[in-house]
Amino acid sequence: MRAMSLAGAAPRRKQSPVITASEPTGPDRGERPAALLAWYDRHRRILPWRPPAGVPADPYAVWLSEIMLQQTTVRAVGPYFEKFMARWPSVKALGAASLDDVLRMWAGLGYYSRARNLHACAVAVTRNHGGAFPDTEQGLRALPGVGPYTAAAIAAIAFGRQTMPVDGNIERVVSRLHAVEEELPKAKPRIQELAATLLGPERAGDSAQALMDLGATICTPKKPACALCPFNDGCVARLRGDAETFPRKAPKKTGALRRGAAFVVTRGDQLLLRSRAAKGLLGGMTEVPNSDWLADQDDAVARAQAPALKGVTRWQRKAGVVTHVFTHFPLELVVYTTQAPAGTRAPAGMRWAEVATLADEALPNLMRKVIAHALD
Ligand code: SF4
Repeated sequence: MRAMSLAGAAPRRKQSPVITASEPTGPDRGERPAALLAWYDRHRRILPWRPPAGVPADPYAVWLSEIMLQQTTVRAVGPYFEKFMARWPSVKALGAASLDDVLRMWAGLGYYSRARNLHACAVAVTRNHGGAFPDTEQGLRALPGVGPYTAAAIAAIAFGRQTMPVDGNIERVVSRLHAVEEELPKAKPRIQELAATLLGPERAGDSAQALMDLGATICTPKKPACALCPFNDGCVARLRGDAETFPRKAPKKTGALRRGAAFVVTRGDQLLLRSRAAKGLLGGMTEVPNSDWLADQDDAVARAQAPALKGVTRWQRKAGVVTHVFTHFPLELVVYTTQAPAGTRAPAGMRWAEVATLADEALPNLMRKVIAHALD
């Protein structure tokens, strides 16, 4: 994951020698920006959105990759990035696409509000900026779906602005380098300040990408390869021997389990689908009919929300449940199936779709799991 979830649970803290962040952290402190860039020049990752060394980055590719990488791994993003670039090679092309097409192409990547914002942003850049991204952090932040991190990343990587975007990888490197004891998210301003000291007078985008790469490949959540790190001489956490315990994190609050029912109706080779409301969780995505998702959901109440279909009286309850974890709550769905007679009309707001073409539908992973469970 690009975000903080990379770090996983913090291991038990070891007894550490008394070395604190307030002490000088090595004779090379002022040389760190140059050391970081020298490391990057030798070890930079080859990524689909990253041009060869010395070639200016395409702002569209930088923006697209940064949106896709939010909460998502580099490995998962790669194929989606390639697909989007092949179909919509410019922000103008993406801005001219329909939201439905974008959602369909995004299906499976998760966090679907990103896809809606992606489309809204492409439209805004096309209409309000003539198809050219603003080249300042402030201008970028005014765009839909572009928060402080993404604005700084685009400003640095695409436009060479002197700013340091701080993602989960960078948080880890910097919090270890200085043994930042304060817990995240409170520690963010301090980490941001310390990260900015790793910027040299030029190549801001490379400095940011170097830190990202260092966090992803060397300063990993478990077993960091400190011997290969350009900062190993002065890294406080390494000297104390407790690098794996950083960054410190406030305990995560997870929401209560919600429960509900999903209804998979087949009619020959077709399946009953509908679209979710445009706003809210999984907004605009495709789904099979389903009940409310509530913490205290009663099975009978959920079951009673099955779609009314002429000629359908019997539903089979599939053994087991489908589970899914959203950012704020885990979900459990009981799945009911039935076969509708030929000619059964879809209820208002629903439609029949060929099972063979489901891959082209904007079905989120949760619904793909439900359908797979039902048709198993
Ligand atoms: S020395 Fe080790 S812990 Fe410190 S920044 Fe480098 S890889 Fe991370």
